Amino acid sequence: MEERLKVLYRNCRLCPNLCGARRLGESADALSDAISGMVPLQDEGVTAEDASTASGAGIVSPQLRDAVAQERVAAEASGAGMSANRNGSSSFPQCRDDAFRSGFVGICGETAQVRVAWSGLHRGEEPPVSGERGSGMIFFSGCPLHCEFCQNKQISKRSGLGLSLAPGELSRMMLSLQDAGAQTLNLVTGTHFVPSILEALDEAKSCGFSLPVVWNSSGYETVEVLRLIDPYVDLYLLDIKTLDLAVAGRFCGSSRYSEAILPVVRFLKRRHPETSLVDGDLKGVLARHLVFPGSIDSTVNFLHWFADNLKDSFRLSLMTQFVPPSREEISFTPVSRAEYNMLLRLVDSLGIDGFIQEPDGKDALWLPDFSRDNPFPESFADPLPYFLELKHARGVGDFA
Ligand code: SF4
Repeated sequence: MEERLKVLYRNCRLCPNLCGARRLGESADALSDAISGMVPLQDEGVTAEDASTASGAGIVSPQLRDAVAQERVAAEASGAGMSANRNGSSSFPQCRDDAFRSGFVGICGETAQVRVAWSGLHRGEEPPVSGERGSGMIFFSGCPLHCEFCQNKQISKRSGLGLSLAPGELSRMMLSLQDAGAQTLNLVTGTHFVPSILEALDEAKSCGFSLPVVWNSSGYETVEVLRLIDPYVDLYLLDIKTLDLAVAGRFCGSSRYSEAILPVVRFLKRRHPETSLVDGDLKGVLARHLVFPGSIDSTVNFLHWFADNLKDSFRLSLMTQFVPPSREEISFTPVSRAEYNMLLRLVDSLGIDGFIQEPDGKDALWLPDFSRDNPFPESFADPLPYFLELKHARGVGDFA
């Protein structure tokens, strides 16, 4: 595996942003080719069948690849992702090869140094994931996507909050969550730290770690990285945010999300043809879809697509509460009770199995505050003492 990892880091193919290709100075054309060659990944990528199903539902535009290339050229011109890191030095993320350790923080906002924004028990995830005791969360800092209205902006934006950890500390955090009684280990947005996460999981397992592992991600990652993490994962909590080009462009930070998610879905369906959410036998994929404001039609299209392609393999978690991070700056019309009831009937009539969030549930309308020791309501979460110990020992200045 070592050689494979080395190749992966050098080209940084952990997510479809492919920063490595840019770092290595490839031309826009070469980059465009790299992206179109990368995303479908030949045998496990987007097939003609996928494309026609999706475009039949008004989802995928043939102009997407051009748009991707243009976005990348613009990003390159503006220098996005090419800043010095927070220590004043520079390094290429995920790269352990010194020949390539000179450059910039990735578009994900991070270097190879793992940073964790919060860890603790959380009882607000879907019931099989939280169980009665709570899911053992590790929220990683940074994110390859930059969604316009991200609820976790304090930690996902470039230079967001987080505590730098050595791999041994990450491994100890996993073991501490197990000791604290966590039902599952829940790794949130860890795509850009996969190499270090694998190292920490190996070390934790050698010390008796045995919790089911939940990979909680935006889905904006490559099939290559999924091949690496897959042997360690029991259940995927996979966002399928949207398959609609316009909705992705408006809400997901990039229109390319709507296409990049397809090979991920195809790979996971192939690897995990069945999902079980039974306590003690968690496996497969629980897909999360959020109804974005003013986009009920795209959700209806998505539900039909899900029923046609995934309902026999995956389970669905349909989320109906969209909360913009700065409520005073922008407001969106929430999903109405009539719309909610229509979605409920549709999910039922399509025979989709899973969960649907109450539009006015008590857990729906708050935003986490990661500057606090407990970012969540007290009844929902307990911080991990080991995380607080590290955070307080290093002082507030290091949690930034
Ligand atoms: S993980 Fe980060 S550095 Fe690697 S390609 Fe994605 S955004 Fe770029």
